[in-house]
Amino acid sequence: MSNKEIPKGPIAEDKAVDILIIGSGTGMAAALAAHERGLNSLIIEKTALVGGSTARSGGAFWIPANPVLKESGSKDTLAKAEKYLEAITGDAPKEPWHAFLKHGAASVELLRKKTPLKLFWAKGYSDYHPEEPGGDPMGRTCEARAFDINRLGEESKRLRPAPMNAPVPMPVTGYDYKWMNLMFSKPLKAFPIVFKAMGKGMGGMLIGKRMTAGGEALAAGLFAGVKEAEVPVWTNTSLVELIKEDDRITGAVVEQDGKKVIITATKGVVLAAGGFDHNLAKRQEYQSPSLVENSSLGSEENMGDGIFNPMEKLNAATAYMNESWWFPAVAPVKKGEMPQVMLAERSLPGGFIVNSQGKRFINEAVDYMSFGQHLLKREKEGEAIKEMWLIFDQKYRNSYILAGTVMPKMALPKEWYENGIAHQAESVEELAEKTGLPKEAFAATFDRFNEMAAKGKDEDFHRGENAYDNYYGDPNVKPNPNLRPLKEDKLYAVKMVLADLGTCGGLVVDEYARVMTKDDKVIDGLYAIGNNAANLFGRVYPGAGGTIAQGLVGGYIAANHIADTQN
Ligand SMILES: Cc1cc2nc3c(=O)[nH]c(=O)nc-3n(C[C@H](O)[C@H](O)[C@H](O)COP(=O)(O)OP(=O)(O)OC[C@H]3O[C@@H](n4cnc5c(N)ncnc54)[C@H](O)[C@@H]3O)c2cc1C
Repeated sequence: MSNKEIPKGPIAEDKAVDILIIGSGTGMAAALAAHERGLNSLIIEKTALVGGSTARSGGAFWIPANPVLKESGSKDTLAKAEKYLEAITGDAPKEPWHAFLKHGAASVELLRKKTPLKLFWAKGYSDYHPEEPGGDPMGRTCEARAFDINRLGEESKRLRPAPMNAPVPMPVTGYDYKWMNLMFSKPLKAFPIVFKAMGKGMGGMLIGKRMTAGGEALAAGLFAGVKEAEVPVWTNTSLVELIKEDDRITGAVVEQDGKKVIITATKGVVLAAGGFDHNLAKRQEYQSPSLVENSSLGSEENMGDGIFNPMEKLNAATAYMNESWWFPAVAPVKKGEMPQVMLAERSLPGGFIVNSQGKRFINEAVDYMSFGQHLLKREKEGEAIKEMWLIFDQKYRNSYILAGTVMPKMALPKEWYENGIAHQAESVEELAEKTGLPKEAFAATFDRFNEMAAKGKDEDFHRGENAYDNYYGDPNVKPNPNLRPLKEDKLYAVKMVLADLGTCGGLVVDEYARVMTKDDKVIDGLYAIGNNAANLFGRVYPGAGGTIAQGLVGGYIAANHIADTQN
């Protein structure tokens, strides 16, 4: 849809509300919780579209011991989840993540009450650190079932679309994707899922439905709830400045199409404006000078307005600004374009990753945040991994989806070859020549990998030794679903880059999601949630959905604290 076809939404004017919410991703959850408590709110959104990165995402959320898990037979408990977070969150202050655990179940209950979403457990989607105490190999990740965007009526035109769409209408959840990816090795499991998704998509179309899944479904469901609660969402409306009176935040100056208006928030302001994903200057300053334009897959206007404004004007404290939800990806086809999503590719048997010296450097199947942290650590230590290539054979190409769009057996896109992000060769030597990898070292890596893969044991990096590695492996490959020797018939190399799903450093908040100053005082009336706040889990991604969960539960906590203290 061109920008011209997107409805403009309500016209901004001076207004008084109970709660002003800045940002329409997980910020919508705060509006729903406020409505439940009898408070009115207004959401402002900088872009023309509602949903932020949340709508672009996989839509998974990681909320331990929630009612959906319980009803589906998960054995998770709060005590077990606490043990897990205790083990992995390092120096992160405990109160905020304790509050996250405490209010998680109620947040999910509220979502079910206030939105038309149907939620399910992505059973088997292991926590990212299942080997740690309290880690759950069956996972705590939930998702929304396929959702009909047309339920939003005219407002569906203001919903941010998913970044990737299947060639035929077909709502694919993250859980579906795991199995679709194995359509040639587990056809009996995969094809019913594929046909069901196609049936929902195409069958739905015939009866006037537009079915979607993942983050687009989650955002659509939240938006439907917000619409039902009659919470206005002003798009094209940006936070300019927070207003402080008598040591309390009482509203904000916001701008729509060049016109500034004043919103008085009598009870509180919730910052839900996402991270600073596309603020390259700040990212280079805080994270790494090697980061480049468009390396983030996050929403395009996430510039950190909700972080830097309070930091500079209100002395707000920040934490983990050098972190992101790192995400290794297929390199952009052309300079300046976005990287292409890869999820299972690193874990699947018949492939491995090398650096510019032709050497493996990591357990390729590790979770994406840890992968990125490893790269940046190496860079800091003066051993930067300057180039990464995913190496695989024809059998791998014939078996699995690549970059979300290249189906098994399909040739890699011509422009990948033309732009040097893919090479194909008949031998190890030829592949080394084409990629510029040192021949001897690459051949040694190839042989060593094959030798270990044949035994099913990665003695160098322990790939395939935990439930998370195995989740994205191929269960047909034994003894290790993540390892198979490559055949030297037709080989491929695809260039990878370090991308991210957004930044995760932000404002320091307390257990009520209230923003704190650098001298550890509460800023009255100001709350921050989602990527606008510092990662509640420190430097760690606990499991699939660990970021959206923080926004959903954070919104619940903030709105309820406002209701409890200001009513
Ligand atoms: C491809 C992809 C897949 C992902 N998959 C998952 C997943 O499955 N599970 C998971 O947990 N996480 C996932 N993530 C990460 C997740 O999407 C984000 O971390 C999360 O959605 C952030 O939510 P948020 O509400 O903080 O920010 P957002 O959803 O980005 O919302 C912030 C909104 O604020 C608006 N805004 C910015 N500045 C202003 C301003 N000055 N005034 C008004 N509005 C403003 C933005 O335009 C944006 O719409 C994924 C991300 C991507 C890109």
